[in-house]
Amino acid sequence: MVLTLKLNAREEIQTQRAHIEAQYEVLAMEEAALKILCTHPAVEKKYDGDGGSYYDPPTYWINWTCPDCGKRWTTPQ
Ligand SMILES: [Zn+2]
Repeated sequence: MVLTLKLNAREEIQTQRAHIEAQYEVLAMEEAALKILCTHPAVEKKYDGDGGSYYDPPTYWINWTCPDCGKRWTTPQ
């Protein structure tokens, strides 16, 4: 009986998880489409970089963040 209950609980959790993951996939596609449609009119620009090391020269880049759609990306300076 205990084993049966555990199996049922597992099946229920697996079903719920599959349902949640399917919803997440739809939401992720909608979010991706939104980021493509947005023209990022209020994009925030932040200069960043690291000091490099003995082997690597310093690297500088710009962090871009759109407060409207949430897209984040970087470009070299
Ligand atoms: Zn945007």
